[in-house]
Amino acid sequence: MRRMPQPAKREREEFRMSEESFVYTACPGWGDHDYCALKTIVKDGKIERMERIVYSAPEEPDGHICQKGCLAGRQPYDPKRLKKPLKRVGERGEGKWEEISWDQALDEIGEKLCKIRDEYGPDKVVLWNLGAGVPAQYSFENLMPFRFANTFGVTVPLGSIGLDNGPFYAEFYNAGSEFPRTVIDPRIMVGTDLIYVWGCNPIENQMRCAQNLVRAREAGARIVDLGLIFDGTAGFADEFVAMKPASDGYLAMAMVNYILQNDLQASEYLLARSIAAYLVDDETGLLARDGEGNYLVWDAASNAAVPVAPKAGAYPEGADIPLFGSYQIDGKSYTTALQKLKDAAAEYTFELAAEKCGIGAEDAERLARDWVEAENAFILSGYGLRYRNSNETYRQFLLLGALTGRLGKPGSGVFEALQLQSWPLVFNDLPISCPDGVPGVKSVPVRMGEWFAKAEAPDSPYKALIVCSGNPVHQQPDRQRWLDVVDGMELVVDYDVWLTDTGEIADYVLPDLMSFEREDLITGACYNHIILQEPAIEPQVDGHEPVWVFSELAKRVGLGDYFTMSIPEYIDIRLQTQYPLIAGVQPPVTYERLKAEKMIRAAAPPEPKYTPYLNPAEVLDNETGRMEIMYSEKLAELDMATTKVLEPNKIGKSTEYPYQLFTGRQRFFMQSSFTDDPITVKLSGETPATRLNPVQAQRLGLAEDDMVEVFNERGHVVTRLVLDESVPDGTVHVWFGWRRRQFEEGTYAEITHQCAGKDSQGPLEDKWFADWLAAGHHPNPYVESMSSLTGSTDCYWDSWCDIRKFEGEITPNPQGTIVKEA
Ligand code: SF4
Repeated sequence: MRRMPQPAKREREEFRMSEESFVYTACPGWGDHDYCALKTIVKDGKIERMERIVYSAPEEPDGHICQKGCLAGRQPYDPKRLKKPLKRVGERGEGKWEEISWDQALDEIGEKLCKIRDEYGPDKVVLWNLGAGVPAQYSFENLMPFRFANTFGVTVPLGSIGLDNGPFYAEFYNAGSEFPRTVIDPRIMVGTDLIYVWGCNPIENQMRCAQNLVRAREAGARIVDLGLIFDGTAGFADEFVAMKPASDGYLAMAMVNYILQNDLQASEYLLARSIAAYLVDDETGLLARDGEGNYLVWDAASNAAVPVAPKAGAYPEGADIPLFGSYQIDGKSYTTALQKLKDAAAEYTFELAAEKCGIGAEDAERLARDWVEAENAFILSGYGLRYRNSNETYRQFLLLGALTGRLGKPGSGVFEALQLQSWPLVFNDLPISCPDGVPGVKSVPVRMGEWFAKAEAPDSPYKALIVCSGNPVHQQPDRQRWLDVVDGMELVVDYDVWLTDTGEIADYVLPDLMSFEREDLITGACYNHIILQEPAIEPQVDGHEPVWVFSELAKRVGLGDYFTMSIPEYIDIRLQTQYPLIAGVQPPVTYERLKAEKMIRAAAPPEPKYTPYLNPAEVLDNETGRMEIMYSEKLAELDMATTKVLEPNKIGKSTEYPYQLFTGRQRFFMQSSFTDDPITVKLSGETPATRLNPVQAQRLGLAEDDMVEVFNERGHVVTRLVLDESVPDGTVHVWFGWRRRQFEEGTYAEITHQCAGKDSQGPLEDKWFADWLAAGHHPNPYVESMSSLTGSTDCYWDSWCDIRKFEGEITPNPQGTIVKEA
């Protein structure tokens, strides 16, 4: 048989490539907090594959992509996507739906919103927009719901996540900063000697950080992983230190105590850059001041107190200023800030750390010694300290950095490795999310605990809930709480790509488009670039993007005049920012320019972002102008001026519920995203499972593949059992993310504890929120694209349960049925 002439391999490749085009897309798995911009390769009108981006910045051209990002291009074609608007048939939560047109859906929703506004007031409508699928402040998925919220006047529960707030809290009371200086670029780790990865799993979940951890180790760094379970980072590390849940602060404070008892602190650094030597009035707990508002330090040369002006005033020339000691001035007793810390830290011995953390006292001491003795060292922390006391633990991490002179020292530091790992880009978003609107009308921000207290009461004033960007019924703790919230509501709307657990209890479910199908700006891990997200493909469902949806809804409630702009017009407004890294680009960045060039390098310095605490020219935002991490005067009234280890939550802990419920994250899901893809499901073990240490299982008479019930007083979940030595004895582990309908019966979201309320919003959080407002911030942190401690809405891991073999009849979870197609 005659063979047809074949093109050479190279020609074939060129031919194949010639059919391909690409656009940039925000990865729908943003929640690993990289919010990666990815290259979406399109061929014949379909997504062919996903690739990392190669950037134009010569100092760091390699973008990154993780296993989920590689699979993300499959999602638009998933048959389980919402295809048309759904209207509930039968009882709420029964899982029966009819497909309806967009016109019908928006007409009916608009009519109900008008009725509620007229009868009860606009603030009886609630907007939940706590991103899962998009970060809160980055995209039209957030901006447009907020535009609607602010023109209609709805109530917005302030759903910041406690554990996300640790660095914000630590920095606020250290330096008065609105934004943690500890959110820095992981490239700065390369060349260091020692890295404590403490409370995160970057090797499996944070690609840019992982890249730089690998480079750091290749360059000679020793990596120590401190955490609850033996995960991918533990396997990569030189040493794994297994910590008991919520015990991290005990080790951190024992290290602080070791440094101070042995006089190992970086004294010159502390004197220059901190308030370590400032005198504290022993009676009031406030920093000592003279009549002119100057602070006081002790001068050993003159044996008298001498003034230091606010805003990092200079110490008097020739003064000999001690960091430690107590002194008498006019018959009153004063103590230096560092002495206060030393006294407070004295109770935190290595023996106590050993007992609380479950590690050897000698290991605790070695970790402290290594931390002090390393020439350069980092603490790299993340969102793995999901405990009630973790805000304080972040403060202790920062303290360890300050005491050893590592904050701002090149090659050293303390950081939370997540989000904005490049120079952050600040767009002009306020005119979009918070337009002037109707005079006197604005959204009503309410702290989460207060909102829940009202919303779940039998006489709740709230009549409607609109959920955009998020799946609170599944992601937030205590599912029953949400069922109580919507009970009696006249309208529940969910706008999402998937029929989520939240959608399942809604009256209307509106299909959103995926990032592959719509235009937007991409920010986040864009390696200092401004990137236009262009549609890669035509919409695969009868869905609509947020600008269209909220403009159409606005028309139906009489607010159409505020929703007349197109996506390019909105993007142009976002680009008209005063933020110098964008405003400094020439020619100016406009939608048209982005459309032509796809991405534009911001006017960002090539070096990694790292606010230099060491820079003598830098005066911190607080009144003293110096680091206050060793003594936060503002917290004196709560007896928290010096940090201490707070007890974790004890909710549910009893002989009845003796085990820690650990809803950890795994690398193939991002919250409940990616739980529909058969590949990620297969990689995740096909079905949800409860994981238990084999020793614990044997003690309980349980074996691999047994059907088990994990339960507490709030609810239960039934799954098969997997034995796993990486799970510590005493912990019951169910991976976060699986949807309720994927479980045999129940869901872990029934048994996670309700932490939005008194259990997460105590005097400390109240104080922070009040101080935040007093510092001139807006009550709604989204307005400033900032976070503030308003009370956690997330699942803490200091939550308790029991486990037993399940031998009853399975009552399957509803699967969601469309009883009437459009
Ligand atoms: S790290 Fe997150 S955002 Fe980046 S590719 Fe992976 S899933 Fe997507």
